[in-house]
Amino acid sequence: MEFQSKRIAILGSTGSVGKQSVEVAQNIGATVDLLTAGSNVDLLEEQARLLNPKTCVLSDEKSARELKNRLSDTNVRVLGGDKAMLEAIASSNAEVAVNAVSGFAGLYPAIACAQSGKRIAMSNKEAIVIAYKFLKAEIEKHNAEMIPVDSEHSAIFQCLQGSADNKIKKIILTSSGGPFRGKSRGELSSITAKEALSHPTWKMGPKITVDSASLMNKGFEVIEAVRLFGVAPEQIEVVVHPQSIMHSAIEYIDNSIIAQMGAPDMRTCIQYAITYPERKEPLASSLDLAKLSKLTFEEPDMNTFTLLPLAYHTIKEDGILPAVLNAADEIAVDAFLKGRIGFTDIFEVVSNVVYGFENIKDPSLDDIDLADKEARIKAGECINSFLN
Ligand code: MN
Repeated sequence: MEFQSKRIAILGSTGSVGKQSVEVAQNIGATVDLLTAGSNVDLLEEQARLLNPKTCVLSDEKSARELKNRLSDTNVRVLGGDKAMLEAIASSNAEVAVNAVSGFAGLYPAIACAQSGKRIAMSNKEAIVIAYKFLKAEIEKHNAEMIPVDSEHSAIFQCLQGSADNKIKKIILTSSGGPFRGKSRGELSSITAKEALSHPTWKMGPKITVDSASLMNKGFEVIEAVRLFGVAPEQIEVVVHPQSIMHSAIEYIDNSIIAQMGAPDMRTCIQYAITYPERKEPLASSLDLAKLSKLTFEEPDMNTFTLLPLAYHTIKEDGILPAVLNAADEIAVDAFLKGRIGFTDIFEVVSNVVYGFENIKDPSLDDIDLADKEARIKAGECINSFLN
């Protein structure tokens, strides 16, 4: 099948994955119909002039007014506010929407994409972790589809191609181990935000970089894999692979392991989610296997990096707990980045908040929304109690 899906939308275009999606759009010659962002007027103006989309939306209305002035010499329609954003997504004629919005805020754009029958190239893991059930129902109802962008899940998705009816024994989810692999809990306590922000192999935004250093990100990815691929939490094995060359693998029931490898570059994952099932010329460089001295694999240190086993706990319990985990982590990481708490305090805050919640087993979207808000308040209180 020839690649025809050439009209795309980029949601969250000014973030790390958003910017890389702009490069991919240019690489494959896609027409960009819609760009959305939060409040970054300068960058959205630059992207609008580069890509000439039909519509640009900023969720911050004041910033949107500023952007409208700046783009008054163009034909680009500029809108402001979250409601306008959802309407613009619904009415966009893009066939594929890259959802690179960060945080829980990515859920409603994802639902709007599903309701308008689009393919969602899904980079936002929070919506999957928190509310996949609701998203999946909308995707099925409206004949939409979702292709993962997260590198590990893109790898797993690729390893599944051509194996439709074969049974999966387990998913091998690789982790770089982060910059603090091998450190003790005591050594971790003095880590600064600057140290946590230097990831050894992947180029990402600040929140996910800290989550990668704490292995919280890997925990979210365990939950994401359970949701997307319909396996039990026990079927997911996290393996530390510091070189980030093997992006994940599947072991089938005959013990054959199919892995996906490549240079660590998000642009490859973004592009595959857009062009699937076709493959196109990449932006990332090719791997020279002979030049790689070695690939290594080891068990993660779950005794030190306690957010990873905590994530397994929350997905086994499910209900509102994954949402609570996500919200508490967002608040704790923000406090860490502002220098208010130490690195290992993130572990304490998140675990205190999760264990302090009474679960609701089969929650409504309102239950989840409420749990998200309450968890943020509880995390804030917990942080304040650390400071006193
Ligand atoms: Mn990932």
